[in-house]
Amino acid sequence: SVPLAFLGGIGAASRQGVLIKGSNFLEALSKTETFVFDKTGTLTEGIFQVKEICPKHMEPEELLELTAYGEAYSSHPIAVSLRDTYGKEIDVSRVEAIKEYSGFGVRAFIDGRQVLIGNSKFMNQQGLFYQPVHEIGTAVHVAVDGEYEGYILIADILREDAKWTIRWMQKHQLEAVILTGDNERVADDVAKQLGIGYVYANLMPEDKVEQVKDFMESQMEEEKLAFVGDGINDAPVLALADIGIAMGGLGADAALEAADVILMEDEPSKIVNAIKISKGTIRAVK
Ligand code: ADP
Ligand code: MG
Repeated sequence: SVPLAFLGGIGAASRQGVLIKGSNFLEALSKTETFVFDKTGTLTEGIFQVKEICPKHMEPEELLELTAYGEAYSSHPIAVSLRDTYGKEIDVSRVEAIKEYSGFGVRAFIDGRQVLIGNSKFMNQQGLFYQPVHEIGTAVHVAVDGEYEGYILIADILREDAKWTIRWMQKHQLEAVILTGDNERVADDVAKQLGIGYVYANLMPEDKVEQVKDFMESQMEEEKLAFVGDGINDAPVLALADIGIAMGGLGADAALEAADVILMEDEPSKIVNAIKISKGTIRAVK
């Protein structure tokens, strides 16, 4: 049977905005020494500002419109941000056959033309030449009917409580790691701002799974690992980790299902509350 203290702990956590799906996860959290973070939407807000629009042939507004249309149905933070920046109603009758390639981007048919929108890896994979971008930021490249049309440079900001959360973890001998599908320059910049030494960039969703598997194989039996993600493309790794922690506000349904712990507000510092409660509960049970 489950000691009452565990139920008390789960209740206390829920009053602080942390949903813990079982007493086993409360116990595991008290033994977690490694916190692996997704970057976009987890450590950062996932609200991208457009820094630059660099079309090859068309007007900037036209390039932005194409991306907003191509991203019409995606729930990726990049897609939501581009639609918000575009700001106008999207006439979905102009858009057909959208396909999302997680970790890459999207393909859509807009007014009958094939539009590819995504990162440099996506352009490479599709055999398209693209313009290398040297500024810090995430370049969203666009190609229409096999021709490169330029890019939109976007950038995100850190969540307000991210720095404090990481500092607290480090003070308590907990390791923080970043895994991201974004490029190295952005990843390194975020890691540097947060004082995180372990950062892995350019990862496909399946690479994140492999990386977490490696970490888990090298840890001691009694050590636990948590993965913290916003849920977009993260369901497999949330399920694999000893504890999957999802940001509840942004989280996709699949991720909320796969997660063991849900932060009802999108605030990484809520993890600190949960850790404190878990350690307190374990002390009370012993
Ligand atoms: P992360 O959450 O770590 O940034 P993702 O796997 O969600 O990782 O995305 C990795 C990269 O893939 C993004 O930085 C972006 O370059 C590209 N990407 C993914 N989805 C989209 C999309 N809908 N539109 C444009 N680019 C995308
Ligand atoms: Mg993500």
